[in-house]
Amino acid sequence: MRAIFIAVGSEMLDLDRVDTNSGYVARRLRQKGILTDMKVVVGDHMDNLSWIVKKACQRAQLVVLSGGLGPTEDDITREAVATALKKELVFREEIVAGLRELFRSRGQAMPEINARQAFVIEGAEVLANPVGTAPGLYCEAGGCKVLLLPGPPNEMQPVFEAAFEKFIAPAANYHIYSRTFKLTGIGESDADSRIADIYRKYRNPVTTILASPGIIEIHLLGRSKDSDEEARRLTDELAGKVRERLKDFIFAEGDAGLPEVVIAMLKERGLTLAVAESCTGGGLGDQVTSVPGSSEVFLGGVIAYANSVKNGLLGVREETLKRHGAVSEATAAEMAAVARRLCGADIGLSVTGIAGPEGGSDKKPVGLVYMHLSAANHERGMRQIFSGSREVIKRRSAFYALNLVREYLNQLAADGGRQTADGKKQADISDK
Ligand code: ATP
Repeated sequence: MRAIFIAVGSEMLDLDRVDTNSGYVARRLRQKGILTDMKVVVGDHMDNLSWIVKKACQRAQLVVLSGGLGPTEDDITREAVATALKKELVFREEIVAGLRELFRSRGQAMPEINARQAFVIEGAEVLANPVGTAPGLYCEAGGCKVLLLPGPPNEMQPVFEAAFEKFIAPAANYHIYSRTFKLTGIGESDADSRIADIYRKYRNPVTTILASPGIIEIHLLGRSKDSDEEARRLTDELAGKVRERLKDFIFAEGDAGLPEVVIAMLKERGLTLAVAESCTGGGLGDQVTSVPGSSEVFLGGVIAYANSVKNGLLGVREETLKRHGAVSEATAAEMAAVARRLCGADIGLSVTGIAGPEGGSDKKPVGLVYMHLSAANHERGMRQIFSGSREVIKRRSAFYALNLVREYLNQLAADGGRQTADGKKQADISDK
């Protein structure tokens, strides 16, 4: 079964209202293996709407509409769908009675205009709206299921859920199985180019790559007409190949975020973390402290934004700042080492960079960021030039810095806690 979603309402075309209902509905449908092929926003225009509903019913087996079920003149969804399906609208007295009762229970008389909401597409099932006055409708025409939902999300959701359970989920003829990899330390196009030759061979599972600042998600959705096992087998087969190619960048599978993963790893090894941040302005500490229980392993940090603070409070040498500049490998290295020492932590982590939009130069462009991790017998720096807005650069910097910790802890685990990535002897940390 393939679906098309139609969001009805001129306010989503020329005012700043954004359609969020389609995301909710498409996510729920996907969980039953029903993929949404198109989402369309249509203004409150009778001819346009009935035209698009007619076309949608010719292409998809499920058409979901939201909005335009209210009582006013511009609420045209019922009539437009009836026209598209060549069906009549019939007046249902019991709906008016229900509405009058609803208004009465609120101590009001029903405005007569609300009687319009009692017109129902012939043969349609009326779906009770437990929150508002606009009932939903469900009907079938020419092999296509058509679902009409109210617009406000808090009304749409319960009406959708009732229809989903009763009419849609039982007809979904797929077993599905999904896996999600989360990656950091790699850009979207780089991630895609490393696995494109594999996933393009598969029409099933469907692969979706999503990028947000600092994080890439790879979703795999396998479907089977026969069994859960087959859906799982298909998904696992592709997942194994994807994991093999991208294993250095995958920090989690499923819902966990990078800060959660890093905090859990620190706890597991009994190591503590301190930070020194410049361009992230506290964003790194914010990411870390957003994880409940982070106080067990996160000791604190310094936001050293101005050079005077980098030098005066943090203790980065004046000579380093003068010779290499605040945005440099040397400064990042000292920031991390000093943060570690000042806080008495096992690991010091620093970020210094140019978040822009001003302040870049040919040698040091906007987006240039140095990150550094300092630990016993282990120093690891990283230089990146991030693109994007100030906000995006700050977020990416924080994630890449956290990823340095993850990589370091992975390396420790791989070395059994005795050897560091550069082969030096690691202090015995098992007693800490
Ligand atoms: P009601 O009569 O209860 O308002 P309705 O079906 O007539 O129901 P609309 O008048 O079309 O709903 O929309 C009401 C409000 O619901 C809109 O102003 C908007 O804030 C919100 N809304 C409508 N459609 C969507 C959508 N697709 N995504 C998110 N919000 C929506």
